[in-house]
Amino acid sequence: MELYEKTINELHLMLKSRQVSSTELTRAMLSRIEATDPDVNAFITVTAEQALKDAEMADQSISRGDCKLLTGIPVALKDIFLTAGVRTTCASRILHNFVAPYDSTAWARMKEQGAVLLGKLNQDEFAMGSSCENSAFGVTRNPWNFSHIPGGSSGGSAAAIAAQQAVATLGTDTGGSIRQPASHCGCVGLKPTYGRVSRYGVIAYASSLDQVGPITRDVTDSALLLGVIAGYDTKDSTSVDMPVPDYALALGRDIKGMKIGLPREYFIEGLDPDVQKAMDQAIATFRSLGAEIVDVSLPHTDYAVATYYLIATAEASSNLARYDGIRFGHRAENADGLIDLMFKSREEGFGTEVKRRIMLGTYALSSGYYDAYYLKAQKVRTLIRQDFMDAFSKADILLTPVAPTPAFRIGEKTAEPLQMYLSDIFTIPVNLAGICGISIQAGVSSQGLPIGLQLLGRPFGEETILQVAANFQKNTNWHTIKAAL
Ligand code: GLN
Repeated sequence: MELYEKTINELHLMLKSRQVSSTELTRAMLSRIEATDPDVNAFITVTAEQALKDAEMADQSISRGDCKLLTGIPVALKDIFLTAGVRTTCASRILHNFVAPYDSTAWARMKEQGAVLLGKLNQDEFAMGSSCENSAFGVTRNPWNFSHIPGGSSGGSAAAIAAQQAVATLGTDTGGSIRQPASHCGCVGLKPTYGRVSRYGVIAYASSLDQVGPITRDVTDSALLLGVIAGYDTKDSTSVDMPVPDYALALGRDIKGMKIGLPREYFIEGLDPDVQKAMDQAIATFRSLGAEIVDVSLPHTDYAVATYYLIATAEASSNLARYDGIRFGHRAENADGLIDLMFKSREEGFGTEVKRRIMLGTYALSSGYYDAYYLKAQKVRTLIRQDFMDAFSKADILLTPVAPTPAFRIGEKTAEPLQMYLSDIFTIPVNLAGICGISIQAGVSSQGLPIGLQLLGRPFGEETILQVAANFQKNTNWHTIKAAL
């Protein structure tokens, strides 16, 4: 097995026992990036020089006997996480030259544990999209098949794992952006409960929905990395002050007697037959492990996409008002006065999808329409959350597909924004409800593309979904099948 194929868990032991140095490991990852990224395009920025310096520092600290969980481990971040001294673009022309003066908390915590940064990863512009096609830095291709999308918006974060260019990555999930690309690229993607991980220093899309989480090769790494980034942060007032459990401890527990709910509304006609088959097999696996399968209902599911596109765009229109050509990034030349400068900078700096959403959100918040759209959407959001709470009174966790189909082709949905929006039907309700979810590989389609399975947990129920996911990986080998490239 090559070095670049290994997990955090394996590499930590190898580094600690000095079987490998961080410099060797970082070199292996950097040459892997060089060999594969011309095809995949997962990276917007590669920080090779700094990575090698940090690797050397890591080797020195290991030789002094100081080897923390991530010491010397090469990772990469979605380009939405602020990194002091390294540019953060959010895949937008408007931030193409923006260098933040400080680190996001999630990254700062990884750095404290010794992680080495390989670079910043491609995504949909401002995290708006499901395919990584809305990037000012070109589309990322799915390592399993280059004519297919990797998913989005954290497409680069998932593709980098599938192409074995980084040991672990971080993504963000507002309506599915960690779970859906993880599913399309055959990795593990965890969206923690709203408030579990600090959003400080993460460029805001829709602040009541955004959440940070890990994308990894297996469930063990997901638990380990969540343990590093989770926890209260005085700099994010929505982060919750609750102790962070030792997530890895949950992985060893069996699932006998656990109740797994199947939401009726998620097993609809029109579900791709390969996806259905993967779900059926997974359900059979869980039954054989002693879980009890129960039928549950989430009756407001049909309203989730519409509700999400009102709330997310309303919040986005407000969050993106700060890009005015004056304080951040791109500034138009030859503007005629202040207002013209703002108009021109925004016109030139934002892509089509971002503009569409700013307009939608501004409309939903405008006087006269606020009650009809935004306020009503907030009420429906409460009903959607209540659906989940009712379901969790009958089941410990829920099992659903992540997406109705495996990764679609590049260009297949770009002409039809609504088709693109509808592909997030199974992930969006989870953000509206604020609960946690994990996506793990549960099959391969007849076309050779990975298929993901989603496990949903109660608020702050990350231990339970990790436990169930770990039991699945212990008893199946889908996660060991890799993209051939
Ligand atoms: N695809 C959804 C959107 O475009 C979700 C994106 C996300 O989770 N950031 O808004």
